[in-house]
Amino acid sequence: MDIDIIELSDTKARFVLNDIEPAIVNGLRRVMLAEVPTMAVDYVNIYDNTSVLFDEQIALRIGLIPLITDLESYVLPEDCDCGGEGCTMCQLSLNLSAEGPKMIYSGDLLSSDPKVTVADGKIPIIDLKERQTLVLEAVAKLGIGRKHAKWQAGVGCGYKNMPVITVKEECDSCGRCVDECPRNILVINDDKLEVTDSLKCNLCKLCMGICDINAIDVREVPNSYIFTMESDGSYPAKELLIQGADTIIWKAGQLKEILSEVE
Ligand code: SF4
Ligand code: SF4
Ligand SMILES: [Zn+2]
Repeated sequence: MDIDIIELSDTKARFVLNDIEPAIVNGLRRVMLAEVPTMAVDYVNIYDNTSVLFDEQIALRIGLIPLITDLESYVLPEDCDCGGEGCTMCQLSLNLSAEGPKMIYSGDLLSSDPKVTVADGKIPIIDLKERQTLVLEAVAKLGIGRKHAKWQAGVGCGYKNMPVITVKEECDSCGRCVDECPRNILVINDDKLEVTDSLKCNLCKLCMGICDINAIDVREVPNSYIFTMESDGSYPAKELLIQGADTIIWKAGQLKEILSEVE
């Protein structure tokens, strides 16, 4: 297997995986959505709330705010020595104390651990009006997306077959396929049909259908996939991908252990 990076930023990645089984590509997608642990607020102690929102609505909003995750300092509650009751190894708190008139943002949540803060400080929580107050403590824990969407680190993770577009010699540059292509990646340049960005092709094959003389061919490259992923901010995109791969390796090890006991 090899990997070609097309795009890599803090929150997004796009790359081509070559010589790989589709089951492994899909496994990677699934672990990033459902198995890589992330930190999220699990419950909220509301001490004062005179805003227009119910306590539950505020707790729901806070629960969905992505938190930067530090897997070196925290463990999943079920793996913790405290047995999941709550200690400094498996949870931390974020405090909020505000009075209106003021818009309250995620950045107003003050974390007890400077390494675990909100991933984006500009997420609105509530607009407090004159004399309205909100005082709370939010308790965050590690969890996985399979249990609740608030622990889903990967968003928009998906893949498609790698397309290869061939323009044959018979092409008379009539331009009919250019008008048909929904991705606008076919152009006539100097009386010649050209493909501007084959990675954008969605393999709809409308160009093949409209060409009367079969002068264009679109195929999927076997075992080659364009993978697109985005992190919710709890991890940099590259780290999330590494965590996803590590999770697959760990799970394969678990399966091996189980099978060796069966023999
Ligand atoms: S591939 Fe077919 S439809 Fe497209 S420009 Fe060439 S001849 Fe026309
Ligand atoms: S398969 Fe669809 S998206 Fe790809 S080049 Fe043809 S018309 Fe465009
Ligand atoms: Zn603990």
